[in-house]
Amino acid sequence: MTAKLISGSEIARQIREELTGETARLKEKFNVVPGLVTILVGQNPASMSYVTAKQKASKEIGFHSIQENQSETMTEAELLALIDRYNRDPKIHGILVQLPLPKHINETRVLYAIDPKKDVDGFHPVNVGKMMIGEADYLPCTPAGIQQLLIRSGVKISGAEVVVVGRSNIVGKPIANILLQKQKGANATVTICHTGTVDMAFHTRRADILIVAAGKPKAVTADMVKEGAVVIDVGVNRIGMTPDGKARLCGDVDFETVKEKASLITPVPGGVGPMTITMLMMNTVKAAKLAAGIE
Ligand code: NAP
Repeated sequence: MTAKLISGSEIARQIREELTGETARLKEKFNVVPGLVTILVGQNPASMSYVTAKQKASKEIGFHSIQENQSETMTEAELLALIDRYNRDPKIHGILVQLPLPKHINETRVLYAIDPKKDVDGFHPVNVGKMMIGEADYLPCTPAGIQQLLIRSGVKISGAEVVVVGRSNIVGKPIANILLQKQKGANATVTICHTGTVDMAFHTRRADILIVAAGKPKAVTADMVKEGAVVIDVGVNRIGMTPDGKARLCGDVDFETVKEKASLITPVPGGVGPMTITMLMMNTVKAAKLAAGIE
């Protein structure tokens, strides 16, 4: 069997089209324009390109969007004051602080300072707690994107054996939590593997849906995958440069061999990646609606 590709690029395009329509409706019917501020401290090239992509997407969808480019020397107190200003700004519904922050700034204190109602990244402990009890306003973006990829590709999640490789707070733990909820688009039996797992292949071979977020190229090879499994590769590993000077990327799954066993598989790039920014946009629309009391 050769797997069909799940195109994150195409699914992200469809969702952005829906969000553009919804944003226009909010403006026309309620005079509400979703507002997003992205805050970048310093000039980390990867962070700069992520923030630029987020701004571009938010403008295309029709948001009120502000980009704050702050100097590397900004103090933690200054950043907290900036967040406080946007927490109180009624035109801003979502605040995104691009990570990582310079070493002299405490990331936890900064993320906790964002009003949970404007925490469109879904990292504030209030939102993590709400996700845990199945009452999320905002799901963290990468895991929410994975769930959308599965739903929109027609994958049966309820009752499936899901195995997640990786237990980070931004991917592994939240996607496991989201898919085990007793809800539509979830209700799976979930196992999480990590570096303390004794026989990882024993678990991954049982997976109907295998989600890999280890940050290690070829962490999952074909012998670890069940025939017909759905494989979601979250990994983004830089493995050199292309002749035209771009980073050459690969995932955490040995794509060439695993695609011969899986029924559906995400490519890298073009799989999970495009969904992350799209879910940030979805959370911002939701934040604007919640703030205005719109169902
Ligand atoms: P992370 O914080 O480094 O966590 C990696 C997790 O994988 C850890 O829990 C680690 O276990 C586990 N792990 C590592 N090697 C393993 C192995 N050989 N066997 C079993 N478990 C293993 O990484 P992350 O932030 O979750 O990101 C994971 C990958 O996804 C990275 O490549 C990252 O770039 C990518 N990513 C992509 C997007 C996107 O939008 N596409 C977004 C976020 C992340 P321990 O806990 O035991 O150390």
